Amino acid sequence: MKSLHLTSDVAVIGAGPVGCITALAFAHSGYSVVLLEAHPKNDKRFAGEWLHPPAIKILQHFGVWSNLQALEHSTGLGFVVFPDDGTEPIKLNYPDELIGFSCEHNKIVSTLRNTAAAHPNIQLILSAKVTHIEGQNLTFLDIKHQQTQTISVECIVGADGRSSFARKTLNISNNYSLVSYMAGVLLEDVELPFERFGHVFLGGPGPALTYRIGARQIRVCLDVPIDSQKKASYLWDAYSQVLPKSLLPAFRQALQNDKVVWAANQFSSRTHYGRDGLALVGDATGHFHPMTATGMTTGFLDGESLVHSRSFKAYRRERKLHTYVPEMLATTLHEVFSRDDDSAVAIRKAIYQMWRQNPTYCVSTMRLLSGAETNLLFFGKSFISGVALAMAYVIKDSASKRQWQHGTKVLQSFGQWMRSPAVSLVHRAFH
Ligand SMILES: Cc1cc2nc3c(=O)[nH]c(=O)nc-3n(C[C@H](O)[C@H](O)[C@H](O)COP(=O)(O)OP(=O)(O)OC[C@H]3O[C@@H](n4cnc5c(N)ncnc54)[C@H](O)[C@@H]3O)c2cc1C
Repeated sequence: MKSLHLTSDVAVIGAGPVGCITALAFAHSGYSVVLLEAHPKNDKRFAGEWLHPPAIKILQHFGVWSNLQALEHSTGLGFVVFPDDGTEPIKLNYPDELIGFSCEHNKIVSTLRNTAAAHPNIQLILSAKVTHIEGQNLTFLDIKHQQTQTISVECIVGADGRSSFARKTLNISNNYSLVSYMAGVLLEDVELPFERFGHVFLGGPGPALTYRIGARQIRVCLDVPIDSQKKASYLWDAYSQVLPKSLLPAFRQALQNDKVVWAANQFSSRTHYGRDGLALVGDATGHFHPMTATGMTTGFLDGESLVHSRSFKAYRRERKLHTYVPEMLATTLHEVFSRDDDSAVAIRKAIYQMWRQNPTYCVSTMRLLSGAETNLLFFGKSFISGVALAMAYVIKDSASKRQWQHGTKVLQSFGQWMRSPAVSLVHRAFH
């Protein structure tokens, strides 16, 4: 362990992906940083494995990219969506030949930690649990030696994830809602229908996201509704109809060998960013469904923005503005791809048609999905066109079947698709 400089400028709580990038961003700007991590082995959990192009740009800038490339990984060209109506898969490429990256979560985290630890301006202290914050004084327990130390810094950064201690000390309640569960299954020695693409299979109780994470390994992420059984037998019954036949023997084998890891998909709106002198970044600010795989990308952008903002207020303003779209997109897409009511079915049909007939819509989707585009008007325009087309389908369908009463009911239910993004926007503006 390097000797502790009690005069560090910045203390970052949590060496998860976002804490490491934030520490690197401060260090690159010449600040001295203490990076504190309570659970060095916590990186074995099932969490983010796919990184979008904007995250890769940041990783390149801070010298992490070459270290990540040395790992067993896969590069991603975009996503392929397999519609639930049995029609042909739809390919959505990243624009401008940009690429994504996928790899086991723990490997990403340990590479980030090693890169941060090697930076001369960063002091990474493992087994250091932050237990008290008062003003700019921060106390941590050195778990190994059972000693406490207090340091005084100009800036404290809470990068301590969903159950953030920093957030609690600010009296911000951790009120989140459980959206669904995610079952992660590892398949070995199988080929994906479209190698180098993330695959989204629709038609199950929730979407199934599948991507390569190594030369021999494929990750299958199955979205499981809250009231379903968290059992391997349920996963087989619910998803074996949806996954391609070529994956089924390996899927069955993995379930029989109990190679399933579980995580909770929660929603907590990204409305709180801390206070002057104690800023929150990453999942500590809020988190949403991993449907669009943007948690880490959004968190990296928090870290970068914090370092470059002129004041805490400027940071908060910037991130409130630019994180609404990723949050809404993930939440709305998850609903569109999981619900089975008539309005959701019509919106899905409209989205498939727009992707098929309009290459510009594919590019817009990928810009929004990857976090490269966070403009509210841009998102609003795409969203409203989708809903309008879906409503047109319902009108046409009701007219041809002469089911006017049913059609009117479905049209009324579209109101809720517009209402929840609007409520969330107002909530964000006033917090
Ligand atoms: C199933 C699932 C799949 C996902 N897939 C993707 C994906 O493909 N792509 C993507 O971008 N995102 C994905 N995400 C989201 C992504 O995992 C998170 O957004 C990301 O891990 C957040 O990083 P973080 O550093 O903010 O928090 P965390 O990863 O939670 O790290 C916080 C760190 O702080 C430490 N800590 C906590 N309290 C203290 C304390 N008191 N003192 C010191 N240290 C402390 C913890 O030990 C931990 O190491 C997924 C999430 C889930 C659940």
